[in-house]
Amino acid sequence: MGNCEILSCTKPAERSVSAESAKGAGLEYAEGLKRVHLCKEHYRQFKKQTKKDRVLESLGR
Ligand SMILES: [Zn+2]
Repeated sequence: MGNCEILSCTKPAERSVSAESAKGAGLEYAEGLKRVHLCKEHYRQFKKQTKKDRVLESLGR
């Protein structure tokens, strides 16, 4: 699958997510991608961030 596409990360990718949701999670990746490959660590970060967003939404925004 190649390497993680988050800037300055060179670990092997394990998952891919849509570029839009990666951006929403505050991850920085090379521009022009439609999908972003993430290593295990960045995927964990991604999930954490998207969870946080959901919590904020449920708090009534
Ligand atoms: Zn990574």
